[in-house]
Amino acid sequence: MLRQAIDSYLATHNYNRIDLKAVLFDMDGVLFDSMKNHATAWHEAMKRYDMHLSREEAYMHEGRTGASTINIVSIRQRQREATEEEIKEIYQTKSEIFNSLPKAERMPGAYELLKQVKACGLIPMVVTGSGQKTLLERLNRNFPDIFKAELMVTAFDVKYGKPNPEPYLMALQKGGIKANEAIVVENAPLGVRAGVAAGIFTVAVNTGPLPDHVLLDEGANYLFHSMTEFSEKWNSFYQEYK
Ligand code: CA
Repeated sequence: MLRQAIDSYLATHNYNRIDLKAVLFDMDGVLFDSMKNHATAWHEAMKRYDMHLSREEAYMHEGRTGASTINIVSIRQRQREATEEEIKEIYQTKSEIFNSLPKAERMPGAYELLKQVKACGLIPMVVTGSGQKTLLERLNRNFPDIFKAELMVTAFDVKYGKPNPEPYLMALQKGGIKANEAIVVENAPLGVRAGVAAGIFTVAVNTGPLPDHVLLDEGANYLFHSMTEFSEKWNSFYQEYK
């Protein structure tokens, strides 16, 4: 199954092999179990402005900018884009609700997987659209001795963000590696789209409520149902790259 996925990737991109050197991890929904809170915050915030965004739909938009998400709902329901002030206000409300919820825990299986990746001599990198100022400190507290500050891509590094391939292309640049020397680990449809568009073998980890096909339809090369499953199967997974 994985062998076929790798062969099909190699054929599509005209590579002889994947010479694995780095694993590029998305953060929300992959390293932290934070998507439930984002989905709840979006749903509740929109409700306060008489607009409807279901929790499940929030997962579909994961990775989009706040303004873009708000406009999609506004156009659908009010046949017009939201004004600058509305966007600011709604996004502020969403952030306040999010911050009032209990802090998201480490995703089960994530640290176990990261330790194995590192033990194999591979470089773990974080590629996130998040712009939290305490991001590195939080990563280091939850995943000691895994990440390096200079090998992270955050909201501060990019202009477009996912689903544009830019963040992943920047990660390759920062790591000094080529597209066939890395894999991407993503939980969201738009994140998968970004990894695939960057020409990198993209592993979807379906940690949310969306059906698997939504991630596979975006071009995910392989899929696990949880980070725990990925961690438990890491050894046999990595063998296929040698
Ligand atoms: Ca994510």
